[in-house]
Amino acid sequence: MLRIYNTLKREKQDFTPLEPGKVRMYVCGLTVYDYFHVGNARTLTVFDMVFRWLRATGYDVKYVRNITDVDDKIIERANRNGESIEALTERMVAAMHEDCDRLGMLRPSAEPRATAHIDNMLGIIGELVEKKRAYPADNGDVYYAVREFPGYGKLSGKSIDDLRAGERVAVDGHKRDPLDFVLWKAAKPQEPHWCSHYGNGRPGWHIECSAMSRAELGDTLDIHGGGWDLQFPHHENEIAQSEGASGKPFVNYWMHAAFLNMDNEKMSKSLGNVFTTREILNKLDPVQGGEVLRYFLLRGHYRSEINYTWDTLQDARASLLAFYNTLREVPPAAAGPDGVIDWSLPQARAFRDAMDDDFHTAQAFAVLHELRGEVNRTRSPELAGLLRALGGTVGLLQQDATRFVQGGAAQGDDAAEIDALIAARNDAKKNRNFAEADRIRDEIKARGIVLEDSPQGTTWRRA
Ligand code: AMP
Ligand code: ZN
Repeated sequence: MLRIYNTLKREKQDFTPLEPGKVRMYVCGLTVYDYFHVGNARTLTVFDMVFRWLRATGYDVKYVRNITDVDDKIIERANRNGESIEALTERMVAAMHEDCDRLGMLRPSAEPRATAHIDNMLGIIGELVEKKRAYPADNGDVYYAVREFPGYGKLSGKSIDDLRAGERVAVDGHKRDPLDFVLWKAAKPQEPHWCSHYGNGRPGWHIECSAMSRAELGDTLDIHGGGWDLQFPHHENEIAQSEGASGKPFVNYWMHAAFLNMDNEKMSKSLGNVFTTREILNKLDPVQGGEVLRYFLLRGHYRSEINYTWDTLQDARASLLAFYNTLREVPPAAAGPDGVIDWSLPQARAFRDAMDDDFHTAQAFAVLHELRGEVNRTRSPELAGLLRALGGTVGLLQQDATRFVQGGAAQGDDAAEIDALIAARNDAKKNRNFAEADRIRDEIKARGIVLEDSPQGTTWRRA
């Protein structure tokens, strides 16, 4: 049985969805003002892994990941670029899809955009005002009154008084309590706005997720995910809004992915220590790069921090090359009848036990490495098939093995040249011109290519 560490309860719990066989999952997505960085990529990839694993084990999953397409950073960036907000966000959504595709992510079942849900946000704000959990202030903002929600602080494990002491929230004359947060911001000149009962304005960030998750998935979700930093205030505020309005539990299992760090500090725009996912992918081999980065992002347990360095990426690449070399040498047979994994096999069971233990990818990947050793020893196409199929449950090992091993560093031109050199070397050998054959072999080697001669002919791969 799948067990999930629930941040709300601070323990691993058996996973029982609301409706048998179905999972409603919501993950806080990106604010689309720039290319996303590799820290964001970690959180996105972790939940893609969760989505895939739930599906692989038979759940019908509706996975919703929102897009924040109106906010201060977007407005500021569009102004700076001299482009419209729509043009900027369209461009960044397209880039996000490209980068997610390169990382081998599945598209979520729905990707609602904030600007398409303003009415739903105003609907919840209206319910909260009616229940006296929110109040319009005299400057045209609407605030949530945190003291009117008894459970406030339950996710972050803090009382309102701890939070007040710890957060040093700025005193704002329009709020009744410094911890009150904005649901609706009064319009400022030159900014996009919508008209409402409270006057022209735009939504606060937190209300977006309460409105979009309710519209797509209903009042209660099975799983809600996001990065570690979102627990407070974002998710705490989502709970206050959603439960404050519906009176029902908002989320049964809260999941938070730990940070990706650089030099032991969180990678973040505000610290300036960021690498965008696309700049890293562009530095990696075009055939291997997406999967190398994916493997790197998934090989640690999702609740452990990981440190990004170029060397750790190279290490991930070496592991993947080992897997693909095995799959090249022992071409896989179908995993089982109809390509379905036979979970009663001991290796499959070990992998599943690891994944069902709060998505313990680190352990599951160790099982894959063991299985690889077994394939090398036994040369069993069935075991190679199982290796490939188990990798597939988390979006790995699905490429053509020879193509992966050869890589595409210099794309087709280079590959064609190498093939031509190999042909020339074979001619030289046929003509018993061994000196020339050796010279060509050295030239090929100098390009970082390893030749493998076999009775079927000569193949090559990158060293
Ligand atoms: P943001 O655009 O900063 O709101 O972040 C989008 C998502 O990426 C959120 O779920 C964040 O928690 C997550 N995130 C941001 N920085 C990191 C990081 N360094 N490591 C892991 N996740 C991150
Ligand atoms: Zn959210």
